[in-house]
Amino acid sequence: MDVKNKDQNKAEADITTHEANPYEIVKGLLKEAVTALGMEENIYHILKKPMRVLELSIPLRKDDGSIENYTGYRSQHIDILGPTKGGIRFHPNVSLDEVKALSIWMSLKAAILDLPFGGGKGGVIVDPESLSERELEKLSRAYIQKLAPLIGPQKDIPAPDVNTNPEVMGWMIDEFDKMRGYNIPGMLTGKPIIIGGSEGRLAATGRGVVLMIREAAKVLGIDLSQSTAAIQGFGNVGSMAAKYLDKMGVKVVAITDAHGGIYDENGLDIPELIKLRKQGEYASDYNNASSITNEEMFGLPVDVLVPAAIENQITKDTAPSIQAKILAEAANGPTTPEGDEILEKNDIFVIPDILCNAGGVTVSYFEWVQNSMNYYWKEKEINEKLEEQMMFGFESVLAMRKEKQCRMRDAAYMVGITHIVKALNARGWINDADLGEFTGHIQNEVMDD
Ligand code: GLU
Repeated sequence: MDVKNKDQNKAEADITTHEANPYEIVKGLLKEAVTALGMEENIYHILKKPMRVLELSIPLRKDDGSIENYTGYRSQHIDILGPTKGGIRFHPNVSLDEVKALSIWMSLKAAILDLPFGGGKGGVIVDPESLSERELEKLSRAYIQKLAPLIGPQKDIPAPDVNTNPEVMGWMIDEFDKMRGYNIPGMLTGKPIIIGGSEGRLAATGRGVVLMIREAAKVLGIDLSQSTAAIQGFGNVGSMAAKYLDKMGVKVVAITDAHGGIYDENGLDIPELIKLRKQGEYASDYNNASSITNEEMFGLPVDVLVPAAIENQITKDTAPSIQAKILAEAANGPTTPEGDEILEKNDIFVIPDILCNAGGVTVSYFEWVQNSMNYYWKEKEINEKLEEQMMFGFESVLAMRKEKQCRMRDAAYMVGITHIVKALNARGWINDADLGEFTGHIQNEVMDD
């Protein structure tokens, strides 16, 4: 690891996506879980397809007068537990299959955490760094205009995701309110606090990730105050995970982002790095550390590894070098099935994405509840409720893992599917024959008298 050379560093550390198609991956995992639960295959066929997908054409006049037509998507997976819910991402690699997969993951997340939502996800194929601030605002407003007929607080509720933030949510809700003619704060979550956002929402995903790491460490008997961590990605989730790990006494020794990576075996100065980020700089702009590539970071002898970037980062090529004891999937879909097999063989405890990063949508749920009652909780109360909900998810998944003697990921899928299946049954979509050998409890409420 050389002393930093920014350009070389950028070239080396570019976060690459591999070929694996996330929609194929999620379908494979759903099918395995339905089979392992002893259910009939038709349950898999219900769950594998989003109920509604939209492709949007978004022509935009750029600052130089030219017109570019962007493509956007929204996938609404299933709404039997409540309105669909999930973020909107701006990224050059967005595709229809990606948003479909991400919407299914959202359904599972909500089900594991017992939130009254189905899954949704949207995106625009764009590199936001290629847009001016004005163009970004116009694109955000135009996207929500196109989507407006099919969203709303009881239909489908967007939120931030990769490369979108409270500011973008502010533009989107303003556009939506103007179209409807009145304020509808619950139409999206992750908005600025002053216009109905929730205390604790910005930190929620990272905070949840660290709560899950704490619980995993208990299971493995690891003393976190004596341990080290490395983080891929220094966006909202990665930086908040770094903050809470640091506060918990974990030495964060490496961070990489799309522009490069930094390493210090004595631990990075996380408060300083967060300050830099707030000034619009990248982790890789920090000068008091050595440079490191993504590949080198994955192979570090740390206790905890946190992929907090995008899909398909832990693959058959990168997984063999991983030495961490805990892999906390702060990103959605960071591990391919081939990567997963290697992690399992090497006895690495994986906290799967649909559990690990569910803190964001959990506080989004609290935001939506506060919007509907028009009464707002203090941050302390939000954080307590978040911890309670995440503990419920962790314990449910751990219990399923014990019962089925399977990986944490499979257990998480089984917990989520079991919950959704109960709602399918309650609504009469499926009957006892569809449940096959399923031995879980389907609650039939009986009147006492
Ligand atoms: N984008 C986040 C996720 O993938 C949060 C979604 C939400 O708050 O609705 O879970």
